[in-house]
Amino acid sequence: MFENEKNSLIKTCRDISAKKLTVATWGNVSLRVSENKFLITPSGMDYNSLIPEDIVLMDFEENIIEGSKKPSVEYFMHLCIYRNRKDINAVIHTHAVFSTAFALNRIPVPPVAEEMIQIIGEEIQCADYGLPGSRQLGENVAAALGNNFAVLMASHGAVCVGKDFQHALKISEVLEKTCQTIIYAKILGNPYIIPHEECEAMIDFTKNKYGQK
Ligand code: 13P
Ligand code: ZN
Repeated sequence: MFENEKNSLIKTCRDISAKKLTVATWGNVSLRVSENKFLITPSGMDYNSLIPEDIVLMDFEENIIEGSKKPSVEYFMHLCIYRNRKDINAVIHTHAVFSTAFALNRIPVPPVAEEMIQIIGEEIQCADYGLPGSRQLGENVAAALGNNFAVLMASHGAVCVGKDFQHALKISEVLEKTCQTIIYAKILGNPYIIPHEECEAMIDFTKNKYGQK
């Protein structure tokens, strides 16, 4: 079942690995395939060795519907996000260097860079700490995500979401680039906080006027 979707999930895993958004077997990826079912990466497996049979199909009652591998320890976090956000069909959890630097400090990513504000959210929150794989972590992450498209996980990493993999991958790259530039900007001086009204105008512009329609 869902052979094409499993292949696109594996491609996304290889993309996040190639783009250095995670190292070794950390991070995890999922795709909602119906109202209450999702595919998710198996726990602790090398992304480059994955084959479609390794991908686990789960329902929202936490049952494994298909697959013989143990699902990602963070399956409950993915589930909490899908439950809260009907607009989201793809979730990518990364351990990328620069966004994790913010997460280690347990601080939000401030509204100082345009692309982030335009497509991810005005300020990206850092979810309260929860042990990896815990229900507490899942609940904290889904709550701190709110209506944004990314959230940090205290002392851990980041979660980026989208309507599909292409969208969630773009969010992951923009979040990482933003965190990197903020760190560089702090070496030069004090990045300017963009006022709320300007953020709102920018979000509206991106939604309604930017790009090809
Ligand atoms: P899994 O390999 O079980 O997905 O765990 C990796 C991880 O990043 C846990 O937070
Ligand atoms: Zn992790």
